[in-house]
Amino acid sequence: MRISFFGAAGEVAGSCTLVETGDVRFLVDCGMFQGGREARSKNLRALNFGFDARDIDFVLLTHAHIDHSGLLPRLGVLGFRGPIYATPASIDLLEVLLPDSAHIQEKESEWQLRHQHRRGKNGVGVQPPLYTVIEAQSSLGLLRPVNYGETIHPAENITVRFHDAGHILGSSWLEVTLGGEGRPRKLVFSGDLGMRKRPVLNDPEKVIPEADVLVIESTYGDRLHRPMPETEDEIVAAVGRTNACHGNLIIPSFAVGRTQEIIYILADLVRRERLAPLKVYVDSPMANAATRITLAHPALLDSETLDLLQWMEAHPNKMKLEFVADVEGSRALNQVRSGAIIISASGMCDAGRIKYHLRENLPRSECSVLIAGFQASGSLGRRLVDGTRMAHIFGEAVPVRFIYRRRLSAARRPGRADQLAARLSLAPTAHLRGAWRSLRLEHIRPGTR
Ligand SMILES: [Zn+2]
Repeated sequence: MRISFFGAAGEVAGSCTLVETGDVRFLVDCGMFQGGREARSKNLRALNFGFDARDIDFVLLTHAHIDHSGLLPRLGVLGFRGPIYATPASIDLLEVLLPDSAHIQEKESEWQLRHQHRRGKNGVGVQPPLYTVIEAQSSLGLLRPVNYGETIHPAENITVRFHDAGHILGSSWLEVTLGGEGRPRKLVFSGDLGMRKRPVLNDPEKVIPEADVLVIESTYGDRLHRPMPETEDEIVAAVGRTNACHGNLIIPSFAVGRTQEIIYILADLVRRERLAPLKVYVDSPMANAATRITLAHPALLDSETLDLLQWMEAHPNKMKLEFVADVEGSRALNQVRSGAIIISASGMCDAGRIKYHLRENLPRSECSVLIAGFQASGSLGRRLVDGTRMAHIFGEAVPVRFIYRRRLSAARRPGRADQLAARLSLAPTAHLRGAWRSLRLEHIRPGTR
């Protein structure tokens, strides 16, 4: 058996693990590099030179985030025709996320081409999209649904079980057993693991304490997430300031997962009367779709969330939620001068409708911006968190008057194995040293490749 890592090691995106055993070759995840100028060329290199896509028998997908799924259509472009196994909720999300990823790339290439023509160049050197919308749609046909707890046999002597990872809707950690000659070997792929006792999704299913190989994702391995009461206090303070100053509160948010969590926290604070009744706009087609898909999978939601949904239904005037569908509606929001809470994507402020809201509201000192998630270096979100006084949006210099500069979710702490184990809801550290025969940390620092 051989395991090779085509991404993720030393990076914060682009998980893709190749397992070769006997005459079977399969991938766990096929993610896209994100952020940074070299992302596109890294994405091309990662798949064109790493292995031959036509030799891959099947793919197992831990979850729908683009840094785990974004190169699946590229695999198809390069000749892969095998099945891609994923949970039904992941498949629902991919049907929205992959064509959107293709659309963004197509637009980017068109923009580069136009830019070159304007400067009298012929467009040589403009990178084409890694895949088109049509190619993304055709890759969706390779997806095969697998429920949590179901055992599948994707190849002779290989069995796979998906378990709830509690990270985003449909996310899984995988238990892979390789049979054949000799003793069967067990591989566990953690994917991204969620935290226990967080709202919206069920807690991650306990990781089994035995495996021959454990592959852990550790993007946030060096961070401890803020406890919920602290997060709530920050939101209450931000809403309070915004109301007192008669401004708007802008919350840039990742569409999948984070947006639904923020909606939960806001509604729960209103229910507990820590906040007065609210009017909240969710202005992102992707966030709207992700929320719709989340509500379509009630079995994946925890009991607190189901209770809260019932309360919201019974009290429609306490928490008014408006999902802004079209661009006109989004533009109209720019005319609202006070009292609006606007949740919009992208989470790092580099794309999407959030840029319009920031352009309108950043220069107004009565408005607040609350940064709600991880911000990669080089992103506008990171510059705002770091205290920049001038943002550049659509080529315009926009003065920054007031930023709620605290991050909601994560606080940087030293990365220690026991903290990581706790973060992963693993059994005590002893298991890492004892029962696990091999421990590989992905993401945590360069040089692990
Ligand atoms: Zn993820």
